[in-house]
Amino acid sequence: MNIEDKIIDGKAIADAMKKEIAAEVAGMLDKGMDAPHLAAVIVGEDGASKTYVASKEKACQSVGMTSSVYRLPENTSEEELLKLIDFLNNDEEIDGYIIQLPLPKHINETKVIHSINPKKDVDGFTPHNIGLMQLGEPCFLPATPAGIVELLKRSGIETAGKHVVVLGRSNIVGTPISVMLSRKGADATVTICHSKTENLPEITRQADILVVAIGKPKFLKADMVKPGAVVIDVGIHRIEDNTTEKGYRIEGDVDFDEVAKVASKITPVPGGVGPMTIVELLYNTLQAKKRR
Ligand code: NAP
Repeated sequence: MNIEDKIIDGKAIADAMKKEIAAEVAGMLDKGMDAPHLAAVIVGEDGASKTYVASKEKACQSVGMTSSVYRLPENTSEEELLKLIDFLNNDEEIDGYIIQLPLPKHINETKVIHSINPKKDVDGFTPHNIGLMQLGEPCFLPATPAGIVELLKRSGIETAGKHVVVLGRSNIVGTPISVMLSRKGADATVTICHSKTENLPEITRQADILVVAIGKPKFLKADMVKPGAVVIDVGIHRIEDNTTEKGYRIEGDVDFDEVAKVASKITPVPGGVGPMTIVELLYNTLQAKKRR
């Protein structure tokens, strides 16, 4: 099979979902309702965070949603940020908001996340939403794992009864995707691996579906993959590269060129999981508006 035929085109799937969301937003406007409103808070000057927030803003506008960004300086105190969160929690015009992470070191991230109103927590990071997810009840699902589930569904990849091996146990990717794929409905058998896992290649070679969220460029090699497995690459790394116009290229956690030869399906980086993450955030914002 050609490599092109193996690619799971996250961008195309995300674009199709954006059209569906845009149609719902247009329907709301036709009924005289306001457009859903997503706010983002960014503290400090982290370059990657600024890029992420800019692309979220652009995505909002592309589906007809309202977006606003609160840019706070690096030296903002925890108290000042909590005051802004209190405002966002109660503001009638804002349906959902995100706090772009990481926050500067002098701010307690856990305290901040715990202060978000769960009804506006469109990132699905609060203990309330994580608890509901665990119980399989309606909630805001965290965007990246929700995007992966949707990618699998819309690509016709069966998860029921399959062995999924997840590399990484972060609160935003590895742990929630393990929960979501092992729940009724997805019905996979899930193994979760982390830095203390022994004999990792032996475990990854048992996977029908591999989800790689490890934060190490090109970590997953072809000899760690069972022939015919589906490989989902969550990693995003900006690698300096003077041969490109921008001076860098984006790589994932998977050695794409080698792994694509043995996998049956694979997500590229960029253009795989990344676009799905943003569209799931829009989806959650739409749900937030509907619930209010
Ligand atoms: P993270 O918080 O850095 O966690 C990495 C996980 O990998 C940890 O659980 C760690 O284990 C595990 N790990 C590290 N080295 C390992 C090794 N040698 N063997 C086995 N496990 C190992 O990662 P994250 O926030 O989930 O992000 C992962 C990657 O996805 C990053 O590249 C990030 O930029 C990217 N990302 C992309 C999106 C998107 O929209 N596409 C969204 C979020 C993140 P321990 O728990 O034992 O330390």
